[in-house]
Amino acid sequence: MSRSPLFDTFARAPLAFDHGEGTWVVTTDGRRMLDFSGGVAVNVLGHAHPQLVAALKAQAEKLWHVSNLFRIPEQEELAKTLTDATFADKVFFCNSGAEAVECAIKTARRYQFVSGHPERVRVITFAGAFHGRTLATLAATGNAKYLEGFGPVAGGFDQVPLGDKKAVEAAIGPETAAIMIEPIQGEGGVRLVDRQFLRDLRDLCDRNGLLLIFDEVQTGIGRTGRLFAYQWSGVEPDIMTSAKGIGGGFPFGACLATEEAAKGMTPGTHGSTFGGNPLAMAVGNAVLDILLADGFMEEAQRKSLYLKQRLASVVDSHPDSVAEVRGEGMLIGVRCIVPAGDVIAATRDQDLLCVAAGENVVRLLPPLNVTEAEIDEGMKRFDAALTALEAAKASDG
Ligand SMILES: *Cc1c(COP(=O)(O)O)cnc(C)c1O
Repeated sequence: MSRSPLFDTFARAPLAFDHGEGTWVVTTDGRRMLDFSGGVAVNVLGHAHPQLVAALKAQAEKLWHVSNLFRIPEQEELAKTLTDATFADKVFFCNSGAEAVECAIKTARRYQFVSGHPERVRVITFAGAFHGRTLATLAATGNAKYLEGFGPVAGGFDQVPLGDKKAVEAAIGPETAAIMIEPIQGEGGVRLVDRQFLRDLRDLCDRNGLLLIFDEVQTGIGRTGRLFAYQWSGVEPDIMTSAKGIGGGFPFGACLATEEAAKGMTPGTHGSTFGGNPLAMAVGNAVLDILLADGFMEEAQRKSLYLKQRLASVVDSHPDSVAEVRGEGMLIGVRCIVPAGDVIAATRDQDLLCVAAGENVVRLLPPLNVTEAEIDEGMKRFDAALTALEAAKASDG
């Protein structure tokens, strides 16, 4: 029986942290660890970034929260930054990734409704997807393991295999409203999506009057080396979600859309008590200022390349344990042959933090401002972890 007063929904590692600085975190008992888990793709600028701390403190002394019954200048500023930097014209701020996806689904359905197609409510999603844990986003995710025991599955989602254009075509019917996809499946195992497939989806949407939704909750905010991953593909969505990295650790999310796609979201159709409050927006503005500064993203791309090269040589030297490096930017996956959970436990023993993903993958999610020396140190520890794991296996067998 669990002695924790918390819900037992998380299988937590027996570690707790006292503070962090950049790519490092220090446990409550003084262990200094290299954090390549990034709070699951959240800490884009590492821990306790001085500019983010200053922005949060300054706003905390001025104004924390006012409701969306009033104008919020910090919100307008961040929306302008995001729309200037993307395909989008409009932004809705919320509190999490799942809420951003909920807003995207609602926006697509409302668009069809006000366009004279109230029957178009269904959204096509992809096997291996992850869109969140609310009832609707779980239905969009379509993972039987997550749905079990939670009653009727929210209707309106049709799931097809990733990359299968024919299956998408076959799934499009008179009730289809939109297609939703992650440009890289993060939780699913850092599964890359072919750029041609994204172009095919854009084309299918255009020909059938559907909206294209990119769920960039994980891939956005510089994680793949561009502000948003879609920018690598040249394919623009109609609606896009963001969260995880957007507040550098301050929890909030956003749904972005073209003016046309957002035309149904009129006063009273959607809302949020906390969404886009001044405290969250102050940090979000500071994050975007840093990411959009000249040369920042190029530097992150350069370091990503360095990391991938170093990692590939570590992976090459452990062919019995790990098989493949994949990903973009600082969203890197290592597909394992031995159980990924064993690799993660072994890296933890080397004071290196990583995260599991689908397809037996270990995710490395360092901050975008990780240094080369930290990459070297991380790779040394990853290598040592695999060596220790192999030695333990050899003495077992
Ligand atoms: C993490 C994630 C979500 C859910 O975000 P929460 O903030 O946990 O609700 C949705 N979509 C994608 C692609 C994600 O990676």
